[in-house]
Amino acid sequence: MRALIIVDVQNDFCPGGALPAPEGDRVVPVLNTIIGRFPLVVASRDWHPEGTVHFEKWPAHCVENTYGADYHPDLKTEKIDTHLLKGTGNVDDGYSAFEATNSDLEKLLREKGVKEVYIGGLTTEYCVKSTAADSLKKGFRTFLVTDAIEGVRQNPGDTEKAIDEMAGMGVGMVSSDQI
Ligand SMILES: [Zn+2]
Repeated sequence: MRALIIVDVQNDFCPGGALPAPEGDRVVPVLNTIIGRFPLVVASRDWHPEGTVHFEKWPAHCVENTYGADYHPDLKTEKIDTHLLKGTGNVDDGYSAFEATNSDLEKLLREKGVKEVYIGGLTTEYCVKSTAADSLKKGFRTFLVTDAIEGVRQNPGDTEKAIDEMAGMGVGMVSSDQI
């Protein structure tokens, strides 16, 4: 049993948003292509209150119930089985989908008998990497869909470094056409 975790494909992480991955919207058609190939699809969203210590590190983004916190309008959200919200408190960063506060992702995956987790979304260096690291720690075979992720690219090379780190942890690398 395998599951797809779509991390934070939200307007604020796409071009024109408050904290954009420069090419964040590129992941949308790739995810739409593979989303029907998984028996379980889970998607996370950053869902921050207006006031949070998280915004001392980052420009304000993905404030709950705003356009910036919505999924990218082209994402096939009707295929998503479970919607996770994270970073919902005023002290938590909530980088990992496993830190969702409205649902227990680990419990859900175990109940469904999931052994393999495939991850795509935004942004490679933060929420994607944290989700992949947690997935591995919890014992799931974990794969990154390499053409379904984009980085925020604060510094040159950050995205490539994050991918190397994930590979070093034991995350498998697959492209969407291998799924
Ligand atoms: Zn955030």
